[in-house]
Amino acid sequence: MKFYTFNGAALALMERSLRDGTDPSETEICEADPTFPIKTKRSKTGRVQKWREIKSKLVLSEDFVAQCEEPSHRIPRREDLERIFRESHLTTDPESASVAFSIHRSWRETWKSISSVYQTNVKKFGLTRESFQHQLDTCSCKVGVTAEEPQTSQTTTGANNNVETVSDDEQDDFEGFPDQSDSNSEDSEAETYDLFEEMDISARDPDAGIQINKRPRAVTRHDYQNSIISRDTLEQHIENLSDTHNVHLKVMKVEKTTVSMTTSIGDNKEVSLLGTMKTFACHRAGIPRRKRLSKRRRKKSSAVGCSFRVKIFTPDEESQPLQVRLFPHHCNHTPGSEEDSCYLPVHETVKQMATDCLGVGMTAQQTSNMLQSMQQSVSIVNINNGRWRTTLTRKELSQLQYEIRCSKRVHQDDWVGTYAKAQRLRDQGVCIFFQEYDPDNEDPDKRPFVLVLQTEWQRQMAERFSPNSVWTVDSTFGLNSYGLPVFSAVVPNQNRQGLPIFYLITSNDVKTNHEETGVRLGFEAVLQRMTTRPNAIIIDKSLTEKRAIERAVQNDPLSWEDGTQTKCRLLLCWFHVKKAWTENLLPKLDGQMAADVYDRLCELMLQPTWQSFDDNLAQFYAEYENVQQVTKYMRGWDCDEWRSMWVRAGR
Ligand SMILES: [Zn+2]
Ligand SMILES: [Zn+2]
Repeated sequence: MKFYTFNGAALALMERSLRDGTDPSETEICEADPTFPIKTKRSKTGRVQKWREIKSKLVLSEDFVAQCEEPSHRIPRREDLERIFRESHLTTDPESASVAFSIHRSWRETWKSISSVYQTNVKKFGLTRESFQHQLDTCSCKVGVTAEEPQTSQTTTGANNNVETVSDDEQDDFEGFPDQSDSNSEDSEAETYDLFEEMDISARDPDAGIQINKRPRAVTRHDYQNSIISRDTLEQHIENLSDTHNVHLKVMKVEKTTVSMTTSIGDNKEVSLLGTMKTFACHRAGIPRRKRLSKRRRKKSSAVGCSFRVKIFTPDEESQPLQVRLFPHHCNHTPGSEEDSCYLPVHETVKQMATDCLGVGMTAQQTSNMLQSMQQSVSIVNINNGRWRTTLTRKELSQLQYEIRCSKRVHQDDWVGTYAKAQRLRDQGVCIFFQEYDPDNEDPDKRPFVLVLQTEWQRQMAERFSPNSVWTVDSTFGLNSYGLPVFSAVVPNQNRQGLPIFYLITSNDVKTNHEETGVRLGFEAVLQRMTTRPNAIIIDKSLTEKRAIERAVQNDPLSWEDGTQTKCRLLLCWFHVKKAWTENLLPKLDGQMAADVYDRLCELMLQPTWQSFDDNLAQFYAEYENVQQVTKYMRGWDCDEWRSMWVRAGR
């Protein structure tokens, strides 16, 4: 990969191009800079294409052109390199006012000064280290660059972008400044651990880097903080560091090494200690590589070359304390950002919540919704999201669900486990109603197992969006290992998106009233916590649901006004009514009759008054007198239980 540095004419042209929003012609580019790279030789507009590509990465900052990711750093002009170098390299000695005695700064100081103003990343059209080194070599002071190269963002920043932009069919014929910036960023990990030696040098001669003809101060890649801790506080220390610096640490390297240190206080004798150096790195450390999962799918690597490190030296001699070296600088990523978090492990608390929700029988989608509404809860809000993820992907939830099912096969009907989960959810303030399974209790209300889950956020949403709106009750069966039904109610928010406002799980033993009782108790618990009511509740055509909710609402003072029910009126969803007809009746009839019956039923449904409905219905029965299937089916809808819930007249 070759890199481009603008010459003056090309940069001026780019500035105009950015300002006016127009692109120059092939000839104009060529005139400005004959060495301007060509996107592809096959095209006559190869330069313009490359121009647009480069332009898309640039912005116009005040009066100069900059790379869009670092808008405060000027893109240098090739011709200016010498001037830029001299301006940063030569300073006037403040003690002698004469200009003649200018001081040559060390290469490090010079580089630092340049990179504070100019773009010094070649991948971002900055100046190259080679040109810098050339300037340095030709300077009268000949400070020279030591074996250690100037460490800038060059080595790591943008390396990821690089991977992105190199595609197989792209021809990049530009022969520009060569650069070794693709070198392995972990190379310098092999440094020796002469920590105290380094510190001694800087202590003896703090100005080592600024004075002339001195060996530049040897420092490691980045500044570090050093501390000495006792062995038993290591775990806590790592924990504290992780929290303070929002970092998820992973062990990168463990190796035997020697470190020199002073033996004890007051005794300045230095000894070399043999021990183990354990290097922890930020989870975004390393060289970005694309992992190939299969021939087609590619997963983006989490590595962005972050240089955050914690190095722990454990001397073999057990009487010696631990040395901790902290390199506290994240780079190329923002700890806690969304982009960052998808590479983090899930926090144990969140995983436990998910396991609990799935464990009591909720589906992956329901669990996902539940976790979403728990994000603001105390237990999740306090999680450091630079270290942990607080959500699970659908794939992870499915995996978790699968694991739970597998383990369930061993102890079927493990009610004890369910209690433990319910207990934990209650401790988290999520479970608002819980009743143990007690099938032999004298009081029928105390027999079924009932669990109602609602987060504080869900309660607030229910409170806010229920007035003048409608709840839709949704039930799922048999998706969990117990085969317990899960009921939930959904209320539309201001954007008409359905928000689940609670989950209700109950036992449904056959030939008992468990389910009806459970749903009733659950609804009562939910309504009790609210001061607003929906106008209507839409349910499935299920007698259990109907009777349960009817009874729950019967004694609810907020649903009634002067003996008339004004809120929480039960309705059947027209969509589901039609679906029921289509699925249960129509297949039994032949083509034309099915179509006719369907039309007549829809007509009946839309009758605005009971008078017109009755007239229409009488006609309907007369017409299909001889088709028993139709009349019999119709009786199922035309009964007191249901008719007011699906005919418009009853709404
Ligand atoms: Zn010099
Ligand atoms: Zn980092």
